[in-house]
Amino acid sequence: MTITVAIIGSGPAGFYTADALLNGGCDVQVDIIERLPTPYGLIRGGVAPDHQTTKKVARKYEQTALFNQVRYFGNVEVNKDISLAELREMYDAVVLAVGAPGDRKLTIPGADKGGVHGSAAFVGWYNGHPDFRDLEPDLNTDAAVVIGNGNVALDCARVLVRSREGMAHADIANHAMETIEQAPLTDVYLTGRRGPLEAKFTNVELRELGDLEQAVPIARPEQLPDAVPDDMEARAKRLAERNLASLREYAQNDPASKPKRIHFEFFASPVAILGDERAEAVSFERTEVIDGHAKGTGEFFEIPCGLVIAAIGYRSDPIEGAPFDEKAGIIPNDNGRVDSGLYAVGWIKRGPSGVISSNRPDGVTVAEYICEDFKDSATTSGKAGRDALAPLLAERGVRVVTFDDWKKIEAAEIERAGEDSRPRDKFVSVPEMLKVLDG
Ligand code: NAP
Repeated sequence: MTITVAIIGSGPAGFYTADALLNGGCDVQVDIIERLPTPYGLIRGGVAPDHQTTKKVARKYEQTALFNQVRYFGNVEVNKDISLAELREMYDAVVLAVGAPGDRKLTIPGADKGGVHGSAAFVGWYNGHPDFRDLEPDLNTDAAVVIGNGNVALDCARVLVRSREGMAHADIANHAMETIEQAPLTDVYLTGRRGPLEAKFTNVELRELGDLEQAVPIARPEQLPDAVPDDMEARAKRLAERNLASLREYAQNDPASKPKRIHFEFFASPVAILGDERAEAVSFERTEVIDGHAKGTGEFFEIPCGLVIAAIGYRSDPIEGAPFDEKAGIIPNDNGRVDSGLYAVGWIKRGPSGVISSNRPDGVTVAEYICEDFKDSATTSGKAGRDALAPLLAERGVRVVTFDDWKKIEAAEIERAGEDSRPRDKFVSVPEMLKVLDG
């Protein structure tokens, strides 16, 4: 008997699970349910608009979506249009692949002032995610501070200083490109509470900062250690060595060689955002790293700025009808198993870390569990899957966006870009997207 599976979320974790189910050797019907009309999660809304090579993986996801066994239910919000409990009644297996769409909160005094944004919101804004299109960050400042030393922090710093020419092949939202182009911003401070050896960013992304058209990266030689300690784990050591070599080059750069600068400021733990209504500076405590941990030295300093981006990690939201571990920010699970017929993959399963392909093993494991759990026809209960879901959504008046519909939206975005070298001109609101379909 066919195993009916609903995957909630159409990002990488969801698509890798669908692909693994199709290749898992059991008879499956896979429905991918997505809150937005548009698929691909972080590929569309998180990966930086000037990282088009990374976004190409969506072509592989499209091949998965086009299999007969797979159906895409876009513009369907779980626990608004249909509850998780109802889906569990309709499907043999439900896979939660909802990611970590929110920001880990910066909790220092002043973090609620104007001009302070979390990176999930800021990245969503420049990527034209409908949830964040109205963020309207005020970039009318000459300096910005980015808090965090991960790849998202690098993305935010880089996008802030790129020119329209530099973004010629990117699908940055129009509102963001216009705001960034008009901003008087000349200096972005990329701050880490620990040192260069502990930075989480990867070397390809760090080196990219050396090739920007109108900004130069600057590191402070006195903050760079002479060597990487021998006792570091081999992989971390290799990364630290490469990063250190890049930062040493950046320490030689002439700050005046380009109109804008990205300054690396290590050993800087944020203690307060200063200013009246709006951020006017960030106060930091100088740190030293002892046994891998940042320890305050009692010395404080300020960086004046009108914009603060806290790129300190993402956060998953609880889902009604599923357990949630508030402290860990994940759904408690046993390597992907949550409950009978309920599974989790990706960032909601293991937290917000890793690259796109890190989600693939999650999908493979859960697909194996599902095939195993329902391999006897006695264990599939004849749950109707899409034959139950589609009529119920129709009865509730939900405007389901099919994969064909998405392809029409995509074609319209490509057409809107015209003769430009940009891959697409994104629609940034759900009504705009639906208008393409319904006129
Ligand atoms: P991340 O790699 O975990 O980095 C978070 C950064 O925030 C760390 O430097 C961390 O410092 C700092 N931080 C956390 N809490 C802080 C606090 N209270 N005060 C000051 N600093 C704080 O997270 P991410 O940058 O959001 O990236 C998420 C995942 O996506 C990562 O695995 C990343 O590699 C991946 N990603 C990859 C790419 C790419 O490959 N191009 C692009 C974007 C994202 P500590 O280390 O001291 O905790």
